[in-house]
Amino acid sequence: MPVQKKIGLTALVPPELIFACRCSPFDVNNVIPGSKKYPRNKLCAWTAIWQEMLSKRELKLDSLIVVAGGDCHNALVDGQKVEMSGVPTHFFFYPFDGDHEYLESQLYKLVDFLGTMGSPEKPGEIKELKEIGKKIDKKRAQGKLSSGDVFRIMISFSDLMGDLDVFRKAISSLKEQKVEMNNRVALIGVPPIYHDFHDVAQSLHLQIVFDELPFEFLRHSGTDIHNIARDYCDYTFARPLDFRIRFLQKELEKRHVNGVIHYTQFACHHMLEDEIMRSKLDYPMLTIQGDLPGKTPEQIKLRLEAFREALDRT
Ligand code: SF4
Repeated sequence: MPVQKKIGLTALVPPELIFACRCSPFDVNNVIPGSKKYPRNKLCAWTAIWQEMLSKRELKLDSLIVVAGGDCHNALVDGQKVEMSGVPTHFFFYPFDGDHEYLESQLYKLVDFLGTMGSPEKPGEIKELKEIGKKIDKKRAQGKLSSGDVFRIMISFSDLMGDLDVFRKAISSLKEQKVEMNNRVALIGVPPIYHDFHDVAQSLHLQIVFDELPFEFLRHSGTDIHNIARDYCDYTFARPLDFRIRFLQKELEKRHVNGVIHYTQFACHHMLEDEIMRSKLDYPMLTIQGDLPGKTPEQIKLRLEAFREALDRT
């Protein structure tokens, strides 16, 4: 078996096609929360750190796929810096209007960049894993799994840990436990840059029962390019805000949430959405902002505690 090429991803790119092309996906964001790097030239720390690590070859990948159209303009620029440093880079675009034919054409370009689809059975295997992921997500909402354990699995659906067997093992190592559900909370926006955020929230009696972006990672699938395009064109972060908000309203109601935490990242355009989220989602809402990776700062812990007390009073 030839050595698999390791392909970096900057955001959601259908991993189904990367595995089908006999490559191994690697979500470059997954190294950030544990990183101690302070990037030299930064707006958002997520893109600045992966840009620096890739350009300096501290993170060694065969090539990079940048989601350039759809959810992050910082990635568009930092992705070009990586390309200028000599890493083969492909720019992937989602359609704002959900046009599945456009997305299908993007998926064919992606396959051209990667080679050929030598393992067309892989998308079907991933679809099965995503069905298991949906059940795990449901169990967490029923108080049978810890919020942090489920988050770590859900966030890994972007690249399935680069190896389906390794990922299967990680899923089967999840241990059921009884979690007291006092305050059911939805976490919307991009994921927190703090590696212990979910565990901290749970220790403060805020049980996260919905992770907006990671849920997108496991919600979409398909067994061939045509079906993958039809499903992924509803990726909410790439669509207009009213589309995303309608989806959120449904999910939050289904999960009987008591409150919402809106995580925003310093220098990210998603911050501008906060006032719209507040006006459209009829729940008590706490907005927090992170910058550099690491542990959840004490100041944010105090704000979470105050939010919990406010929810206890409702
Ligand atoms: S937090 Fe915002 S700016 Fe940073 S990578 Fe994510 S979408 Fe881009």
